[in-house]
Amino acid sequence: MKYDFLYASSDLSILIVEDEELVRKNSSVMIGRRFDKVYEARDGEEGLELYKKYKPDIVISDIKMPKKNGIDMAKEIKEINRDVAIIFLTAFNDVNYLLKSIEIGISHYLIKPVNIKKLFGEIDSAAKVVNLIKHDNENMELFSVLSENSLAGIYMGKEKFEYINPSLEEITGFSKDELLSMDICDIFDDEHKERIGIATKERLRGEKLEVRKNELKIKRKDGSKRWVYSSTTTVHLKNGYSTLGNMIDITEMKNLHLEFERMAVTDQLTGIYNRRKFEELMRSEIERAKRYDRIFSLIMFDLDKFKEINDTYGHIVGDDVIKKSVSIVKGILRFTDSICRWGGEEFFILLPEIALEDAMVVAIKLKNGLRDFDDKVLPKITASFGVVQYEDGNSEDELIQNADKALYIAKSKGRNRVETI
Ligand code: GH3
Ligand code: MG
Ligand code: MG
Repeated sequence: MKYDFLYASSDLSILIVEDEELVRKNSSVMIGRRFDKVYEARDGEEGLELYKKYKPDIVISDIKMPKKNGIDMAKEIKEINRDVAIIFLTAFNDVNYLLKSIEIGISHYLIKPVNIKKLFGEIDSAAKVVNLIKHDNENMELFSVLSENSLAGIYMGKEKFEYINPSLEEITGFSKDELLSMDICDIFDDEHKERIGIATKERLRGEKLEVRKNELKIKRKDGSKRWVYSSTTTVHLKNGYSTLGNMIDITEMKNLHLEFERMAVTDQLTGIYNRRKFEELMRSEIERAKRYDRIFSLIMFDLDKFKEINDTYGHIVGDDVIKKSVSIVKGILRFTDSICRWGGEEFFILLPEIALEDAMVVAIKLKNGLRDFDDKVLPKITASFGVVQYEDGNSEDELIQNADKALYIAKSKGRNRVETI
């Protein structure tokens, strides 16, 4: 909703400048019935003084007056306030004066003797202009106070910035002058720059009128990247379409959010995926296998006789063995394989596009890698492996159960082995 300022005409103040006392008094009384603030001056000099003192909205003035005539007074008043409304009351034969008054931009005048109805008509039309200007000025004032103090960075422009507020300087690290020589898309990070550049051009052509809200990355003057939440819209002003945008820095919030997301899928001890993430990966891999007729395999492994390690060396060393085992396994796996900690010292590995035989080969490599590791500090460890391949129609639970069965076989055949069902 737009906020509008409404003025009652009676709020306007009026200055009457007239040397004939009777005319002045009469006008003053009549105008005073409709307007609260009416000031009277006897000549141009006094008129100018009162104008400077009260800054009335409308000046009604005679032209021929002692000391300073109406035209000279009006000229000086116009120098103080270009937008002031001046209504001249002139005798019929004052053609030269009339021309001069037009020259200095007076558009309201009445021929004496003044008909009161016409006078009010003239005042009303001047009042309308005064109100519009006041309205404009106050809107402008409201906009600039709001923008100058806004926590959001605000800008406007076609391709280049044409207006920016102080917060935008703060957010981007560029000074006002620097920003005013830049394209709007220049403040954005490379991954968003092109898209913003295209959108800005579309707005400029009036093709993109809707409000867009996005999380975007900007690149500050010092090269550092920040996340902003940005809202952009198209405005249509006198000189055509422009982009009007505002943004707030959400880097801290965004990083926190990303960190929460990471934590929600990560095992704290080892830094690899947790069970929740693994289940999610499995579901989408099964989906993919079904839809595109793809294959994948699963390896489940469990450290052998781990209880003994804990009992002999303590839990802290036990933890270190778990971490070391993960790093050995990760060093052998490919980038596309996902490993997760299923619980305690049990792990799952998902191998997309890998058939059972190849998965067995991978598992043997992992088994040997763990068995052969010896840093002379940590106790030696082995692990047992169960390997299965996804079969058409396998559910998530079936696959896990099959891997568990294979692992059980490896354990029961003496551990430090790779088995399938
Ligand atoms: P097996 O060869 O049959 O697997 O023997 P195991 O001793 O490894 O079998 P079991 O599953 O009974 O014991 C696993 C032990 O792992 C029990 C538990 O105390 C220990 N464990 C589970 N999670 C952790 C952990 O985060 N840190 C440490 N240090 N130990 C853990
Ligand atoms: Mg174990
Ligand atoms: Mg276990």
